[in-house]
Amino acid sequence: MKKFILLLVISFNLFAQPKPYVILVSFDGFRWDYLNRGLTPNLDKIKSEGSFALSLKPAFPSKTFPNHLSIITGMYPSNHGIYANNFEDPFKNETYRTNDSNAVNNAKWYWGEAFWETAERQGIKTASYFWPGSEVKLGYRKPSYAEKYDGKKSHDERINGVINWLKLPQELRPRFITLYFSDTDDKGHKFGPNSKEVNEAIKLLDNVAKKIFDKLEEINMKDSVNVIFLSDHGMTEISKERVINIEKMLEGYNCKFLDETVLMTIEPPKDKLKEVYELLKKNENHYKVYYRDEVPEYFHFSDNYLIPSLVLIPEIGWNLLSNRGMKRIDNAYVGGNHGYDNHHLDMHGFFIAVGPKFKKNYQTGTLLNIDIYPLLCKIFNIFPRNNIDGKLERIEYILK
Ligand code: AMP
Ligand code: ZN
Ligand code: ZN
Repeated sequence: MKKFILLLVISFNLFAQPKPYVILVSFDGFRWDYLNRGLTPNLDKIKSEGSFALSLKPAFPSKTFPNHLSIITGMYPSNHGIYANNFEDPFKNETYRTNDSNAVNNAKWYWGEAFWETAERQGIKTASYFWPGSEVKLGYRKPSYAEKYDGKKSHDERINGVINWLKLPQELRPRFITLYFSDTDDKGHKFGPNSKEVNEAIKLLDNVAKKIFDKLEEINMKDSVNVIFLSDHGMTEISKERVINIEKMLEGYNCKFLDETVLMTIEPPKDKLKEVYELLKKNENHYKVYYRDEVPEYFHFSDNYLIPSLVLIPEIGWNLLSNRGMKRIDNAYVGGNHGYDNHHLDMHGFFIAVGPKFKKNYQTGTLLNIDIYPLLCKIFNIFPRNNIDGKLERIEYILK
């Protein structure tokens, strides 16, 4: 009889535990210290009602696609595959580019399991109002609902889209939803992180945060939804004076320049690899050159056969260019950029989480963005993949 009662209590508890809701909101390029400018009354209030980190450390390179994928898979970019915004598979002569929808939709580039796939496999419906990797064509690797990326969609349209999903009948309603805005990144590139234009974008996004809660209140869900606000990376000032033409330095070597500006990757002809490396090493000034396999451990940027043989990492604020890049010198390399050393504070993003699962008025130091995937698994009480780089114990304490 006792056993029977215990069983009854346990099963009652199981049924009584409502499944959580999480909205994961990304403000692209929102640097951690934008919150200290006195422009964010709404985020300040949310901060005091939830858990807040001093900064969110991105993975290297501190670029948009690599980091959105790190957040959603819990893996370093060289492990989840999207190690840059643009890269090549030299063995198949194929290219991944963020502005090529065929490449972006092709599941073969994504080696990690996104949280929406982990969740759907374990019975949780998910949706995405934009997130890199959410548009893959393979049904079982994408959210139940996914909007095709369109940067021109208004803020209201995006928020209403999310609210409409939450208004669906229980059995169709997603429990995990992503949402994305690029304003701070757009203005940060064009005008630099200290511009009035960036300040306007900060205010705009602070208002987006308020709108999300106003709308949640309208549908009576304000207190039942967990909302995580974060960014993929920060932003730093750049200038035309801090530009190095690497191709000029390597004249006559017939090297292939794959990625440039911040992270530069070079494929020299095989028999010239050592010579080219030594030349770059000899001239090392405002950048570091590495063989792919010798990139320092702390970047976690080696174990990927698609990364070209030579990797150049500039000092913060510097740009490394090929001749092609130099042609844009008159109208580029002003304003801001990111992609640099992820340990540099300018590259750090922000993190605020609020809702029934999170501690209230709790502040912590820097969190790692690869730890968010296991955190999400914990919130939903589902099994994470065991090949991830993220660690629950580095972040779990922000939960109630
Ligand atoms: P970047 O600053 O080069 O690292 O990338 C930022 C840009 O990525 C933004 O301006 C967006 O337009 C673009 N972007 C963000 N999400 C997506 C997506 N899901 N599909 C295509 N482009 C995207
Ligand atoms: Zn970004
Ligand atoms: Zn950017």
